[in-house]
Amino acid sequence: MGAGIVGACIARSLEKEGHDVVLVDRNDPGSGCSFGNSGAILSLGASTQLPGPKLLAQIPGMLLDRNAPLVLRWRHLPGLMPWLAAFVAGCRESRQVETAQAMATLLSDTTGAYDRLLKDSSADALIRRNGALGLSRTDDWFAGDSWRRELNASLGARMEEVSRGELDQLEPSLSASVVRAMYYPDAYSTLDPAGLTQQIVRDVLAGGGKFVQAEVRDIRIENGNPTVLVTDKGEMKVDRLVVAAGAYSHQLARKMGIKVLLNTERGYHVDLEDTVTGLQRVLLHGEHALAINPRPNGLRIAGTVEFASLDASPDYRRAQALWRKGREVLKETCEKEPANMSFWMGRRPTLPDYRPVIGSAPGLKNCWFAFGHQHLGMSLAARTGEIVADLVAARDPGLDLGPFRADRF
Ligand SMILES: Cc1cc2nc3c(=O)[nH]c(=O)nc-3n(C[C@H](O)[C@H](O)[C@H](O)COP(=O)(O)OP(=O)(O)OC[C@H]3O[C@@H](n4cnc5c(N)ncnc54)[C@H](O)[C@@H]3O)c2cc1C
Repeated sequence: MGAGIVGACIARSLEKEGHDVVLVDRNDPGSGCSFGNSGAILSLGASTQLPGPKLLAQIPGMLLDRNAPLVLRWRHLPGLMPWLAAFVAGCRESRQVETAQAMATLLSDTTGAYDRLLKDSSADALIRRNGALGLSRTDDWFAGDSWRRELNASLGARMEEVSRGELDQLEPSLSASVVRAMYYPDAYSTLDPAGLTQQIVRDVLAGGGKFVQAEVRDIRIENGNPTVLVTDKGEMKVDRLVVAAGAYSHQLARKMGIKVLLNTERGYHVDLEDTVTGLQRVLLHGEHALAINPRPNGLRIAGTVEFASLDASPDYRRAQALWRKGREVLKETCEKEPANMSFWMGRRPTLPDYRPVIGSAPGLKNCWFAFGHQHLGMSLAARTGEIVADLVAARDPGLDLGPFRADRF
């Protein structure tokens, strides 16, 4: 259930193993959070922020700055309190290291999983295998982030610092605002996250699977098995169920009597059409907490975290702020505001410890959960698909899924 990148990859892995797969989504495939993300397919090393003491110390300052990479829409605070309380309680160094170690077991094979999934698929043409660049605009910020590089390196990440001269060779369109840069050779990216998701769904259909556009409103349980999806288009019988409904997954879990502390970190993008920059690869800007992805006919600048309720209306001033910060990184191509800009908001599904939920639904048979992939859903989707296929086939997935249990909060 759920035809975002996570559900699509799970469906394709299951269908490749001969299962009769039906993907159910109330919207078109790839139209949720998987539509407008930055398209970075990260492996060990280039992974994003995890809750910890440093992040916690930065938050009060960010909450007072309207243009900070993290904002809270205060009137939504009461509904966010349980999640925020668990987040703050988990901001300990020991917990951060445990999470980094757990995430490394997933991140160590993200790109290999895409290679396997997309073998013989035309979706492979949407993947770039040329690494990612992490950028900083100050020496201080770069030095302050060294603990994270050291932690990632201790977990096996490959990365190398790039001098300004080497950077000019790699990406001639970067402006002088970039003073330090790291190259992450193992990262991939996709030029079209929505297109990639949709092509994987087309692969599922070509392999004999089905897609049903319907909203799941209830799930009937008999003898500990989910047996019927009650949808706006009628009832559907199921004999096995995988819930991969992104930021809405907790609502479906609740229908089966399972409480999951899932929240959404809303993020934004601005797409610039008809903007030729010559950029070759995805850029991850540390201080500005944004990513820049060159697209066939333009550029995407995406990022920021906004805490508000799931269905609060978008505040596109966040996307405009991304443009103002992102343009600083690129030379003259972005000096003028392009005529064709479009804005988007997406809901990252995130648990307070930033670990996804992957595994059996607690207390149920024949039901698995795969959601909460936070800032890394595009990266982790293909690997998640393989793990879920192992679980459905009752095979050992070869990693400890304890850190990703649904009932850990
Ligand atoms: C600005 C931004 C930038 C990002 N950049 C990156 C990046 O560079 N790299 C990276 O790895 N990740 C990135 N992410 C994170 C990534 O986009 C998400 O983690 C990922 O898309 C989540 O995928 P999903 O399939 O779980 O959810 P979704 O794509 O949201 O899919 C869930 C689907 O479930 C369906 N659904 C929900 N409820 C129901 C229901 N009741 N009945 C039927 N269908 C239902 C929805 O319609 C939706 O289609 C970014 C996110 C944002 C917001």
